[in-house]
Amino acid sequence: MKKHNFNAGPSILPREVIEDTAKAILDFNGSGLSLMEISHRAKDFQPVVDEAVALFKELLNIPEGYSVLFLGGGASLEFCMVPYNFLEKKAAYLNTGVWAKKAIKEAKAFGEVVEVASSAAENYTYIPKDYTVPADADYFHITSNNTIYGTELKHDLESPVPMIADMSSDILSRPIDISKYICIYGGAQKNLAPAGVTFVIVKDDALGKVTRHIPSMLDYKIHVDGGSMFNTPPVVPIYTAMLTLRWVKEQGGVKEMERRAIEKADLLYGEIDRNKLFVGTAAKEDRSRMNICFVMAPEYKELEADFLKFATERGMIGIKGHRSVGGFRASCYNAMSKESVQALVDCMQEFEKLH
Ligand SMILES: *Cc1c(COP(=O)(O)O)cnc(C)c1O
Repeated sequence: MKKHNFNAGPSILPREVIEDTAKAILDFNGSGLSLMEISHRAKDFQPVVDEAVALFKELLNIPEGYSVLFLGGGASLEFCMVPYNFLEKKAAYLNTGVWAKKAIKEAKAFGEVVEVASSAAENYTYIPKDYTVPADADYFHITSNNTIYGTELKHDLESPVPMIADMSSDILSRPIDISKYICIYGGAQKNLAPAGVTFVIVKDDALGKVTRHIPSMLDYKIHVDGGSMFNTPPVVPIYTAMLTLRWVKEQGGVKEMERRAIEKADLLYGEIDRNKLFVGTAAKEDRSRMNICFVMAPEYKELEADFLKFATERGMIGIKGHRSVGGFRASCYNAMSKESVQALVDCMQEFEKLH
């Protein structure tokens, strides 16, 4: 039976990317050595990093003056690296979920943090819109896609100060106006690669402005100067990221990823809204295209476990909702096909007929 992988992260990758990674793990570029047993400084590996960086810049239309890094530590380490490198006095944060909250917690160790708005009281079911970003903040931090709650900022915001974004779970799913940001980062395990590598896009001239001493491993400038090779980077995940970036380009780029994301999301939300058994949890205007959250309608609440079993038996993987939201979450990242989303929709329709 075909498995439809709706896992939230680590998550689905294009099948050919996984196959080509597997091949390189057995024999990298016909060298007779595994990708896992070569130096990150080997002459064959440098072109991999270079190509990954070049494709990232090309696909996201990253202007001159920005660097792309591939580091370890996950998005969670970036929660601390961001204030370490950019927070001199005051930073503004939008609190749209658990990940945003964790970023805020780290920043508080470095200076004044203004939480401009929060949707915590409504269990983060919407993205606040009515707030003012202080004009004297060093930056305004947002989480563009809230993986757990299924809300997403699908357009770049206006901000009086440079923005910084955690784009772990929606990078490469739409075009971005990079010039509005001094830093964009994310764990690659949602839309790009297996776990182990973190992507960072950073504006070069925004670095070196804080007065504190920054430990080398946490200093973006050192990683920029070292071309992501200050220490041993995650070689295998970087290779996979490069293959995924090639795949995105072959498929037609981020504009095409966005078109498909809209198509898949419309298909699934359409069914959630039509089917009497289910309701969506996120405010309609803020609905994420990447993580689609829904629960049983109140009068069918007792069918939750039954539906999970029913869908799992039909090959739907990873649709159990996060414990803080409950119900179901279908993550529809770039590599998810429309056919798989249709299979879930068919499942929901079949289940409805039984009740
Ligand atoms: C998964 C996720 C994180 C955490 O990433 P790690 O790489 O595990 O640290 C942070 N932010 C968002 C939006 C996420 O989806």
